[in-house]
Amino acid sequence: MPASDLETIVSLSKRRGFVFPAAEIYGGFANTYDYGPLGVELKRNIRDAWWRAMVRERDDIVGLDASLITNPRVWVASGHVANFTDPLVDCKKCQMRWRADHIAEGQYGEVKKDAAGNLLCPNDGGELTEPRQFNMMFRTQVGPVPDENSTAYLPPETAQGIFINFENVVASMRRKLPFGIAQSRVSFRNEITPGKFVFRTLEFEQMEMEYFCQPPKDRANPVEYLALHRQWIDTRLAWYRDTLGIDPSRLRIRDHEKEELSHYSAGTADIEYLFPWGWGELEGIAARTDFDLTSHGRESGHPITYFDEETKEHVVPWVIEPAAGLTRTLAVTMLEAYCEEPDEKGDKRIVMKFRPNIAPVKVAVLPLSKNEKLQPLARKVYEMIRPIWMTQYDETQSIGRRYRRQDEIGTPLCVTVDFQSVGEDGTPGDDAVTIRERDSQTQIRVPVAQLLTALRDRLPGC
Ligand code: ATP
Repeated sequence: MPASDLETIVSLSKRRGFVFPAAEIYGGFANTYDYGPLGVELKRNIRDAWWRAMVRERDDIVGLDASLITNPRVWVASGHVANFTDPLVDCKKCQMRWRADHIAEGQYGEVKKDAAGNLLCPNDGGELTEPRQFNMMFRTQVGPVPDENSTAYLPPETAQGIFINFENVVASMRRKLPFGIAQSRVSFRNEITPGKFVFRTLEFEQMEMEYFCQPPKDRANPVEYLALHRQWIDTRLAWYRDTLGIDPSRLRIRDHEKEELSHYSAGTADIEYLFPWGWGELEGIAARTDFDLTSHGRESGHPITYFDEETKEHVVPWVIEPAAGLTRTLAVTMLEAYCEEPDEKGDKRIVMKFRPNIAPVKVAVLPLSKNEKLQPLARKVYEMIRPIWMTQYDETQSIGRRYRRQDEIGTPLCVTVDFQSVGEDGTPGDDAVTIRERDSQTQIRVPVAQLLTALRDRLPGC
């Protein structure tokens, strides 16, 4: 059962230290958020799961971390300087963004208007924001004298750093086509739509990969290239389902209509999630042809090519780009994990049912009470576990309340140390502890000597 509304997650996030509205003491700042102690772990775990699937578990993809601020001509070649300056309007209901002039021209189909003659969203007839002419890239100045030549941009995506390093990677890593370069880092967009939590923010993190392959023999009919594009769509969809545990009924693929595609694109499909307000993009998988490498070759005067040993020819590879939003995915994992159900006593409990690999805290060590007799063993157990997994030690309040707290942050396992463990009234302790599982709420007793093995069995992929 996912959370039925965003408010539930927004308030849990703040209460439990996942995500805080930024600069709250100054009245906040629209579309910006800070990640708290648990949010930072959750974000890192999602990023790691992506990196593992895209880089570590494959031998055809390598990583990169390109600089954020770079030569502004990069953004001329990519088309961002010219093409991010449109009269943009956003639908307040479905969040889709349109060019106001294109709506008026009927380029998206039937022109819908309200009684006062205002244009409405071509997708769902929702109210539109006022059109605004602006470039979505943030500008900054490099150096002490602000003039035309000192303007630089904060990156609105991570991909361009990959394209301009294509030759460096081929040469240093001796890569053969097909191969990919992956990168995960922050991007910035001067968004005009008021955000929905971390769904749309000014500063967000992306996980992008550019997969370079042989150019097709027939540009007009790139059969193998389009088949590879389909393969990547399937691979990425499976990742959300199998690695993050997102219910497939709330995931779908949406192929872009011809009118939505850039002139160079051979196709784009979005992986969408059914948010509480409707379907929204999680990841775009674009068949970008050879557009970017060719553009950078033209703008820099340094053609970017790949030497094909077999044909002894220089070719410009074609590219497939799965581009995912890390922070948007974090919101989805929280919505999906949220569950309300009865606890052991039949009272309502809130549980975040994160997959163990995604859960911010893997194990909580809970002495039954604050009694000092319990502390040495509880501390010993804690010190045993924490070098291996993210672990919390908590001895305040009743054990029931501490279970509830751990359930609410999605900790898969609690380890309880009680008087049976340490012994009481002259009876020796059994040197065993109780493992309590978050989802089943079952408890099993395990000797301390076997604790790490028992935990490992219950924390797959961690
Ligand atoms: P949208 O149409 O929702 O603005 P987009 O098509 O512009 O997204 P892409 O350029 O394809 O997005 O970026 C890839 C991914 O980055 C998106 O699928 C989304 O998950 C994430 N993303 C894009 N813009 C933002 C933002 N402002 N805040 C948070 N995540 C974002």
